[in-house]
Amino acid sequence: MHISVIGSGYVGTTIAACFAELGHTVTTIDIDEEVVAALSAGRAPIDEPGLEGLLETHAGDRLEATTSYDAVPESDVTFLAIGTPSNDDGSIDLAALEAAAEATGETLADKAKRHLVVIKSTVTPTSIETALEPAVKRGTGGNENVEVGMNPEFLREGSAVSDFMHPDKLVYGTNSEWATERLHAIYEPLLTDHDAHVVETDPATASMIKYANNAFLASKISLVNDLGNICKEFGLDAYEVMEAVGLDDRISERFLRSGVGWGGSCFPKDVNAIIAAAREEGYDPALLEATVEINEKQPERLLELLGDHVDFDGSQIAVLGLSFKPQTDDIRNSRAIPVIEQLREHGAEVVAYDPVAIDPMRERFPAVEYANSAAEALDGADGATVVTGWDEFAALDEEFDAMETPVVVDGRRIVRRRDGIVYDGLTY
Ligand code: NAD
Repeated sequence: MHISVIGSGYVGTTIAACFAELGHTVTTIDIDEEVVAALSAGRAPIDEPGLEGLLETHAGDRLEATTSYDAVPESDVTFLAIGTPSNDDGSIDLAALEAAAEATGETLADKAKRHLVVIKSTVTPTSIETALEPAVKRGTGGNENVEVGMNPEFLREGSAVSDFMHPDKLVYGTNSEWATERLHAIYEPLLTDHDAHVVETDPATASMIKYANNAFLASKISLVNDLGNICKEFGLDAYEVMEAVGLDDRISERFLRSGVGWGGSCFPKDVNAIIAAAREEGYDPALLEATVEINEKQPERLLELLGDHVDFDGSQIAVLGLSFKPQTDDIRNSRAIPVIEQLREHGAEVVAYDPVAIDPMRERFPAVEYANSAAEALDGADGATVVTGWDEFAALDEEFDAMETPVVVDGRRIVRRRDGIVYDGLTY
């Protein structure tokens, strides 16, 4: 099948490369010329394991990248993977997606064959009916051959390619059997040697499934962090407690390790968006509000622990890990941001290190000093804190000896305790 993908960010690039890998012909379209140039040359515009290999294989062959929407009518199905950022009140800003939906529609005004426009972006349950379908229709001038569906994406940054190729579930939110069949045909090659649940539903329910999924996971982490904080107050090992809790198969063993909280482009935006959407409908989602509040307090707790050992004013603090989680260079809503902000507010000089996310963090905090290695960040520091659980931090050992005062407060429980360092952490 010929698929066009509008938006070549984390999701768009991943799905375009994976659709090509599944055997489809793919045209991926973005307004950012640098992104398009990178994709055309078979280079990944983002750091994501496995992506570069797929792009090298398929770019210029089954995968084309362009800034022009001209290829849309030649394709059979169009996926819209445009960002849906937060407004100040937490609701989602649909402006860019709506503009892309209308521009897509315009290219399909005269299409005589049926064409499916699939929303891949995460949008609230009413968005398709009230904003996105009307935008496509405005563009097409009411061409009845064009239909809109919803196919939420569950991939995680850091393992996006693998998640896409081995999904737990596929959710098809459509208004017709024809549209469901189109989606089946697209994903069929992926299901031949991999079992995944396929959920067939309507677009609004498909949208809500994505929000419920992320709200559940974010709430699970915040609950685990809340319980971890209680364990810490009692001097108990939260990991030991939660490992036992995870033996209950109603709970599952995943996402039970407490730490400095969740970030990224999805959990914060999606939880806030569904809170805002629920309020708009007159419902006050108290548990989800607490989920956000607990998450905002975790970096403060981390710094309170560090502050028990180090007077921040005039001190040098090493911040290890800047991306919101390992295996990605994405710093959106990374817990490192409030940690750096608060350290600097308290007069500390921050020396930060991350294996891949220094450049984006430098844009956010140009005045912070960035080290080339964890060892360099630790050298001469009065204290250190670990914000992202990169594997390489588990191997740190005598690097701590170069600290002025070897105090380590671990937000991810990854540093090995050893003689000669004062170790503290959120969980024990
Ligand atoms: P992103 O910001 O990384 O990428 C969006 C891309 O769209 C950018 O490259 C931008 O240049 C391009 N763009 C903007 N306007 C355009 C237009 N009119 N025409 C063509 N291109 C345009 O966003 P993302 O992280 O890929 O997220 C996309 C959507 O997928 C969001 O709704 C997000 O919530 C959802 N989602 C993201 C993830 C994730 O892990 N990042 C996972 C699941 C779902």
